[in-house]
Amino acid sequence: MSRQYYIAGNWKMHMTRAESASLAKAMVEQLKDGKHKYLVAPSFTGIETVGAIVKGTNIRLGAQNCASEEQGAHTGEVSVLQLKDLGVQTIILGHSERRHVYKEDDALINKKVKLALKHGFEVILCIGELLEEREAGKVEAVCETQTVKGLEGVTAAELANVVIAYEPVWAIGTGKTATPEDADAAQAFTRKVIAKLYGQDAAEKIIIQYGGSVKPDNAAQLMAKENIDGALVGGASLKPESFIPIAKFA
Ligand code: PEP
Repeated sequence: MSRQYYIAGNWKMHMTRAESASLAKAMVEQLKDGKHKYLVAPSFTGIETVGAIVKGTNIRLGAQNCASEEQGAHTGEVSVLQLKDLGVQTIILGHSERRHVYKEDDALINKKVKLALKHGFEVILCIGELLEEREAGKVEAVCETQTVKGLEGVTAAELANVVIAYEPVWAIGTGKTATPEDADAAQAFTRKVIAKLYGQDAAEKIIIQYGGSVKPDNAAQLMAKENIDGALVGGASLKPESFIPIAKFA
């Protein structure tokens, strides 16, 4: 497999600037000989601080969301132009908390995906089923719909800047991890969806991360699977002692 492993930390709504700086410094120090691709996505308020620390290192700077409009009267939103100004390289979109807590639908997520790609960002598009959808046998249907609708209007050239994160909602922040086999099956299916949309070559190149209670003791088994090209890590990304072993999994 020629795809590079990509390990990303999503810090969600955690940490002050001082706490963010301390964690980012530990990551830079301990990952400087890391062999994979890395990303850190702090809260908006921590981006400038963390950006100054990871600049010029092997850790990319991410944001956890962006507005669907470029600028204007959108109280409380953050624009792609502002993120670009801070040096952000990657934007996580369609995270399950955005979909299910903040009620973002596929059309809104697609608008954000297209806007972020137009401005040259890498996008991590999150997809994944709820527990009731898994129990109803709808894993593939959900992955297909969220992938197809999330990428509507995205060109083949733009797809080179897209990463998909398969994150079964029932596994996020719950301590329940999908088995490597179940995650691999959903991700193999998603890769087939990409093949249908963009061709086999694009499907083989696209990075598909797994997310959902990834920990140091399950990271290697998950990423040993053919279709799991990395991890999007929430809880375990908040401490160097749990994130670094995941990021340096062997
Ligand atoms: C996430 O929020 O993307 C996530 C995977 O969280 P956790 O690792 O805590 O399950």
